[in-house]
Amino acid sequence: MKLLESILVTGVRVLDPVSGLDGIRDVLLAGGGLEFVDGTSPVPEDATRVDGGGKWLFPGLVDMHVHLREPGDEESETVKTGLAAALAGGVTTVGVMPNTDPPMDSPSRVEELLDRAAKVSPVTVVPIPCVTMGRAGIEPTDLRAMMEMGVKAFSDDGDPIQDPRILLAALDAVAAVNGVVIEHPEDKRLSGGCMNAGGTARRMGLTGIPSKSETVDVARCLELASGAPGRLHLTHLSLPRSVELARSDPFRSAGATVDVTPHHMALDERAVEESGSMAKMNPPLRSPEDRKELVEMVAKGMVNAVASDHAPHFPGKKDLPMPEAAFGITGLETLLPVTLEILGNAGMQPLEILALLTTGPASILGIDAPAIVHGGRAECVLFDPAREYFLKDENMYSRSRNTPFAGRLLRGRVEMVWIGGPVYREGVS
Ligand SMILES: [Zn+2]
Repeated sequence: MKLLESILVTGVRVLDPVSGLDGIRDVLLAGGGLEFVDGTSPVPEDATRVDGGGKWLFPGLVDMHVHLREPGDEESETVKTGLAAALAGGVTTVGVMPNTDPPMDSPSRVEELLDRAAKVSPVTVVPIPCVTMGRAGIEPTDLRAMMEMGVKAFSDDGDPIQDPRILLAALDAVAAVNGVVIEHPEDKRLSGGCMNAGGTARRMGLTGIPSKSETVDVARCLELASGAPGRLHLTHLSLPRSVELARSDPFRSAGATVDVTPHHMALDERAVEESGSMAKMNPPLRSPEDRKELVEMVAKGMVNAVASDHAPHFPGKKDLPMPEAAFGITGLETLLPVTLEILGNAGMQPLEILALLTTGPASILGIDAPAIVHGGRAECVLFDPAREYFLKDENMYSRSRNTPFAGRLLRGRVEMVWIGGPVYREGVS
């Protein structure tokens, strides 16, 4: 088995959030390009024919919130393994968060990431460097120098930008490039626990993280962003109240964008009873009522993007009692099947769901989303939405396996990925 250089996919459902196309086509992928063909078009003799019946072809996904761990924690993930996991998940563009060791807080560190990524993977990497040096919240980074390199998105993810003067100055600065400041909404003085504050935490005798540790910071940032020239994005919102704050008066005019994760839509706090520290993340899985309402808000169009918050950890950091275990779960390889299942059940159409994974995050990051264009470059995914499989170690590419979805039956499988040529085929490493 190997990658197929030239392939004709017949009768495939093409879904393109950029053009709005949702229809059956015959698609030729050859020489790095993509063409729609009919009976009269020339097809190379060596093209492999694939029956696309029941399958989907859509643009490569954009995951705007990913932790690659290199440098500093290569035992958990490297740029190479993380980007391999991205391809296996149908993701061809990743927004890379800066909380590595050392953190990505200068032009040279941005350069290092881009160089490393270009050497090991065809995936497009969008660096999201720090707003403050070392993510320490005290001294601003040189945003202008990084913007001159083409950087548009900045974040101290893992920590909020506590100092309002620094957040305001960053919102001012990024406006010059239609950039964005991405806030990890949390007031650390209110958090402190290891799971959602509520019935399950009480039953398990664990310290809880109250809702207000998130919503108070959401409200603070929205007030600061109101009238500011640059864009604010609030990432991994776990609570309906957070989305409501961003979308209703008096904060609607702040124009902030928001994303949610698949796990906050799929799971609630009770998953901690079942999966222990594999279901420990920050923000935590919330109550069953919160989860349900959050999904309804996504289905109503109140959320701009779905992002994995892929947070790999080697076993030594996760195989621990809840209070000591690290926060975070892997997500690149479960992003699409989990999101499709939850939002499909909530009544959303495939094209609308794919928009949350392509055009939505791309416009937040200030980049062009990959599109399906006749005669254009092939940056696309062949996907079987009906294929069911159990998520097992041997079919994961991430170096880490810390996911509460391990062993679960997933529906929908990425079969092939192209980025200006074939770059991934299921079962070929
Ligand atoms: Zn975060």
